[in-house]
Amino acid sequence: MQRSTGEYKIKPIKRQVREILGYPYPARIPKGVFVEQWVGISTDEFHRAKDADVQYMHNRHPLIADMNWSRTDCISYLTSLGLADTPKSSCLGCPFHGNAQWRKIRDESPDEWQDVVEFDAAIRQGNARANATGNRLLGQAFLHRSRLPLGEAPIDHVTAAERAALQDELPDADELENGVPDGCSPWACRGDADTAVQSDFGLAT
Ligand code: SF4
Repeated sequence: MQRSTGEYKIKPIKRQVREILGYPYPARIPKGVFVEQWVGISTDEFHRAKDADVQYMHNRHPLIADMNWSRTDCISYLTSLGLADTPKSSCLGCPFHGNAQWRKIRDESPDEWQDVVEFDAAIRQGNARANATGNRLLGQAFLHRSRLPLGEAPIDHVTAAERAALQDELPDADELENGVPDGCSPWACRGDADTAVQSDFGLAT
């Protein structure tokens, strides 16, 4: 997961930032030239606030550093604006999605659903760069916890097999339906700390 976060999320962001700064790769960016990137991590998850790993990007966390807002504060504010239903942020193809999030994409955003089904198929043997450098994935990778192709996965209900797996594995029934409770960003990918993409050899990072 950490590898895929770098490959699919951080890298395109860095590419775009370099474009914005006027120093596309591999141009050297002068010292002191940088963008400030605001990342919305609340005080509940301060431990996930991290610096960028390059000098031309400075991460700033206004909810923590300037406002001291918790998740509850954020929800109260959104509710006051009539936006109580605002979903937590996450990547489209996040393997931590619960069934409800997969259904929402399938039922409300058919084009995005098509994209994510294709992405799921494309990662089956691991990502192309890792394979090219000899770090091949043992087994197969899947975005859905059932370890079935996303287009065939049982996202309309929790299966008996998934319920049985709950005896041994970490996620509870609510997590299977609604995904992990925390929000996310590529700069705070929980794949750094946890396992993520499901493999038929077990869980793989
Ligand atoms: S854990 Fe976070 S950064 Fe990683 S794929 Fe999911 S939403 Fe994206």
